[in-house]
Amino acid sequence: MEIKKFLEEKNLNIGDYVEVTKIEDGDLVKYKGIIMPPYELSEGDTLVLKLDNGYNIGISIEKIKDVRVIERAKAKPEVHFKAELEKKEELPDVTIIGTGGTIASRIDYETGAVYPAFTAEELAKAVPEIFEIANVKTKLLFNIFSEDMKPKHWIKIAHEVAKHLNSGDEGVIIAHGTDTMGYTSAALSFMLRNLGKPVILVGAQRSSDRPSSDAAMNLICATRMAVSEAAEVMVVMHGETGDTYCLAHRGTKVRKMHTSRRDAFRSINDIPIAKIFPDGRIEFLRKDFRKRKNSEVWVDDKLEEKVALVKIYPGISSEIIDFLVDRGYRGIVIEGTGLGHAPNDMIPSIQRAIEEGTIVCMTSQCLYGRVNMNVYATGRRLLKAGVIPCEDMLPETAYVKLMWVLGHTQDPNEVREMMLRNYAGEITPYTRFDTYLI
Ligand code: GLU
Repeated sequence: MEIKKFLEEKNLNIGDYVEVTKIEDGDLVKYKGIIMPPYELSEGDTLVLKLDNGYNIGISIEKIKDVRVIERAKAKPEVHFKAELEKKEELPDVTIIGTGGTIASRIDYETGAVYPAFTAEELAKAVPEIFEIANVKTKLLFNIFSEDMKPKHWIKIAHEVAKHLNSGDEGVIIAHGTDTMGYTSAALSFMLRNLGKPVILVGAQRSSDRPSSDAAMNLICATRMAVSEAAEVMVVMHGETGDTYCLAHRGTKVRKMHTSRRDAFRSINDIPIAKIFPDGRIEFLRKDFRKRKNSEVWVDDKLEEKVALVKIYPGISSEIIDFLVDRGYRGIVIEGTGLGHAPNDMIPSIQRAIEEGTIVCMTSQCLYGRVNMNVYATGRRLLKAGVIPCEDMLPETAYVKLMWVLGHTQDPNEVREMMLRNYAGEITPYTRFDTYLI
């Protein structure tokens, strides 16, 4: 039986505080809690209760013996949301493209349920400050966790961004889950060609129902950056744990470095482009960023998906490389140890991969610093086998770049030339001393 039918038949409403009696291993067990609205995973035959301790549990309705209402949900006023607010002529236009993740959701304070929030009016209620900065329109493109993103999603986002930028927006913001935001920002950095306006990815480490949420300030800073002079793909997130400033990181140099801290995002081997203060001040930390210009952006979306990212670890088997080659992978990015190494007994497999036309690139799992494969014999052997050393590129940036490069050419010499050419700030000419752990 469908959950909606079950609620109707039992005369239950979302938000009712109830006691559910459930048959559990032949015994009767009681749970007290608030009935949550059905969401993606609870669709079908599961009743979701928010327990007094704040946790949600799902109870299969087949196992429910009885439901007793303790307190009815308070009636909520009907709210109709408009898609756009009144336009202020003096302000620039910005579109927020929703793709999912914590930032793209709103909390129903009565039930504690998380919904995607994406009309301008809902945002205006949640973060009214952004409407003082720009005429913000919203577009919910999809609503997925970022761990579920695939290259086809990057392409869809890129086309949506281009559409808005080429039809008058001064900047675009992409609300995105934080887990794989760095991959998407790298992909957009390579795919959006002739970019003349800011493209900002923003997320939240803590959902908007929590007092410590970073969602509102990140969105305010993202909006400020979206109307700024910097015409690059950037990630805007908290710069430190307090609500003092956000940082705008270059899309190819940024990484999520902490599972839960609000200042989880860091520029690696590079300094961020700007600091953005809640009062609206933007302090540019460097001068060498692409400036806003009048230009039509276009999407170069050719990606070769048969590319893998392989981390080296003591005990790794060269079978992993053999498997990828046998399965027709066109490119492999190795996240090597130290200066860019892999075990000696893997070299024959790597050599075979290259001989059979698979491109093999080397990055470092140290993340900080630059690969240098001339220092040790192992590195030299790998170079001799034809491995491409990827300078100071992040492993995930090199992975995305190799997909993009192989989408354009499969000629090994051209691939090498393109992998080592700097397209979007992914390679710095030398590693600045002051870029470590800031
Ligand atoms: N893991 C999810 C994601 O990256 C949710 C967390 C978040 O939005 O940061 O989409």
